[in-house]
Amino acid sequence: QGAIMPSQSATVPCQYRTGRTLGSGTYAIVKEAIHIKTGKYYACKVINKKLMEGREHMVRNEIAVLKRISSGHPNIVTLHDYFETSHNLYLCFDLCTGGELFDSICARGQYTEADAAGLVRTIFQAVKYIHDCGIVHRDLKPENLLFRSKPEKTSEIMIADFGLSRVMAENKLSMLTEVCGTPGYMAPEIFKKTGHGKPVDVWAMGVITYFLLAGYTPFDRDTQRQEMEAIIAGDYKFEPDEYWSIVSDTARNFVSTCLTTDPEKRPTAAQMLEHEWLTAEIPHFVENE
Ligand code: ADP
Ligand code: MG
Repeated sequence: QGAIMPSQSATVPCQYRTGRTLGSGTYAIVKEAIHIKTGKYYACKVINKKLMEGREHMVRNEIAVLKRISSGHPNIVTLHDYFETSHNLYLCFDLCTGGELFDSICARGQYTEADAAGLVRTIFQAVKYIHDCGIVHRDLKPENLLFRSKPEKTSEIMIADFGLSRVMAENKLSMLTEVCGTPGYMAPEIFKKTGHGKPVDVWAMGVITYFLLAGYTPFDRDTQRQEMEAIIAGDYKFEPDEYWSIVSDTARNFVSTCLTTDPEKRPTAAQMLEHEWLTAEIPHFVENE
């Protein structure tokens, strides 16, 4: 620790010392944090109160949702602690050291079908759990899916970032109408403002599965308007052949089933887990672990 540079680590309310930045998203910077007393490492999501002004309820919602579900499933990030100072809110999570699924896809180019199916199965099981708890995530994408450790294991993929999640009133299939999320992963009904709910997470899983198999996303267009129109029309192709020729019809059918444009006809997470692509015991489905 040289005396020339001021210490790079700020003191998070007495008990933690923050270190390097792990990632950042829409509202937050996530830093590695050491719990001084125990020497244990955590991931600390630092949310600037000024930037969040008027939207503090979003953080309270995130905490409430995490408290409700976070220790109930092995593939959901665990909220360990939270506190605030006059400037910031801090959410302290178990540290995932394996990085984002996004970077893993970029590094590999594309996933093999066997590895993709293993991951998608694990993520869908966690999505089903979230839905069974009456919660819709609304921001599923590879930047919010983290590997618990390195090397990346299929069984250790974690759902993070419940910042846009909502508790759904029972018996109401679709009641949310605000337009939110990340455009490329947003379901048609979100843009149409006809009300949305749990089916938006199944749609996002279709986009993620496509991304895993191809290495690029299905609705990429030159402008956001064209992207939105393509999503509403369900206009995507399993092309070019260069990326898709090796992908089975079963995998393609899985993607198209998730990408059913009518949310009423789109299968649930539980139903997608029954799809042949995830249940088939194909000999070459050896997990890369
Ligand atoms: P935002 O709401 O701003 O998108 P996220 O909760 O998605 O914030 O966190 C932003 C980024 O920080 C993530 O995409 C990821 O790279 C990193 N991150 C979040 N939680 C953890 C964690 N528990 N362990 C390691 N990195 C994390
Ligand atoms: Mg995020």
